[in-house]
Amino acid sequence: MRKPRLVVVGNGMAGIRTLEELLKLAPGMYDITVFGAEPHRNYNRILLSPVLAGEQDFDDIVLNPLSWYADNGIALHLGKEVVRIDRAQRKVVAADGTGAEYDRLLLATGSLPFILPVPGKDLKGVIGYRDIHDTRTMIEAARVKKHAVVIGGGLLGLEAANGLKLRGMQVTVVHLAGWLLEQQLDPVAGALLEKSLAGRGLEFRLNTSTTEIVGKDAGEVAAVRFSDGAEIPAELVVMAAGIRPNIALAQAAGIHCDRGVVVNDTLQAYDPRVYAVGECASHRGVAYGLVAPLFEQARICADHLATWGIGIYRGSAVSTKLKVTGANHSRIKSSVGRSAQTLLMPGTTLIREWDERQHRVTVTPDGLYELNGQVFKSLSAAARHITGTQWNGPKFFGLRDGKAGGQ
Ligand SMILES: Cc1cc2nc3c(=O)[nH]c(=O)nc-3n(C[C@H](O)[C@H](O)[C@H](O)COP(=O)(O)OP(=O)(O)OC[C@H]3O[C@@H](n4cnc5c(N)ncnc54)[C@H](O)[C@@H]3O)c2cc1C
Repeated sequence: MRKPRLVVVGNGMAGIRTLEELLKLAPGMYDITVFGAEPHRNYNRILLSPVLAGEQDFDDIVLNPLSWYADNGIALHLGKEVVRIDRAQRKVVAADGTGAEYDRLLLATGSLPFILPVPGKDLKGVIGYRDIHDTRTMIEAARVKKHAVVIGGGLLGLEAANGLKLRGMQVTVVHLAGWLLEQQLDPVAGALLEKSLAGRGLEFRLNTSTTEIVGKDAGEVAAVRFSDGAEIPAELVVMAAGIRPNIALAQAAGIHCDRGVVVNDTLQAYDPRVYAVGECASHRGVAYGLVAPLFEQARICADHLATWGIGIYRGSAVSTKLKVTGANHSRIKSSVGRSAQTLLMPGTTLIREWDERQHRVTVTPDGLYELNGQVFKSLSAAARHITGTQWNGPKFFGLRDGKAGGQ
């Protein structure tokens, strides 16, 4: 009897994590085909920043070598972007005409960088920060060019700025808000972070909006102009002003989308043969932009693809941290004593199994940590309360070793 066919669109973190989970639950259940628009093996996207900063090489961040696909009988189409889903024929078609029929289709197309709709956005040297190609472009630009402007003072923008600075560029970060990381930090902590990064040579223009990117004759970027009329030189402009779920393919196929591909608690889309995971998916109105939720989604989705049918995805608590090494972030405390190195948003819940019990710590609005009605000043204090021994709090809750959303 022929095996059911599973086609995965997107060779990124969510799609391949789902396959890894599926292969654990039901090895050999499907004939699997993967399409990846990028020409690379599956890699750890969050480690692009250490690569840009010169701390790691591209080879270090590969998650699955080509042998992994071959060993698991997966047909891999690299450098092939799927441009059409024919739901009636149950078939996907790539730009070069390569097709694959499916019984189950998994959409894992991620996000696209949001490119500000300003004049000059299409000039050569204006890029987003999303993939190996963007990272290589930045590394190459840093070899031969001097001035970089990063638009966006969020996590991604600061990581890009830090990497470009370490590679010798003169970098200005332009940010609409009045302080850096305004979604994670209060103004006091944001100002201290700015001071710390300025000490490393980064320049900042806060409360500033970009009105135009100015080009030279050859169509290359030359400067960035702001709402106050000021202009600064720029031979490289990195847009790090947000992301948008990559859903054009699903929309064109008539699959219901809002911000992302709308999925239920089993990660199943409007068409029951279609599933979606990762940044392209919208679950209970939320499209996540971090890696921890997609790992949870992958587990549940695999459970259903394996026809176990018992997993329920209820949404994820999220936290992240700034991957700028070397800066002394332990000195950056907000007015309530929250370290800027572990940027936990109020409302974030961290869950830790210990002694066969589940312990839930929630970040309070004033940046403290609530555990069973008791409030602790630090994660270490909460960990000590749970275990009765001394712990590094962030490590205990998986924020420093790649688990539980701490990447
Ligand atoms: C520089 C950087 C640093 C980050 N740092 C952190 C961090 O510290 N912590 C954190 O939690 N998150 C971080 N993130 C976010 C994290 O990387 C994403 O949440 C995660 O990669 C999303 O996984 P995904 O599979 O949904 O999308 P992706 O990993 O983007 O994978 C989607 C893949 O699908 C491919 N694709 C799209 N359309 C098609 C098509 N039609 N046909 C074929 N292939 C297609 C894309 O080319 C891409 O390879 C970072 C992201 C970046 C860019």
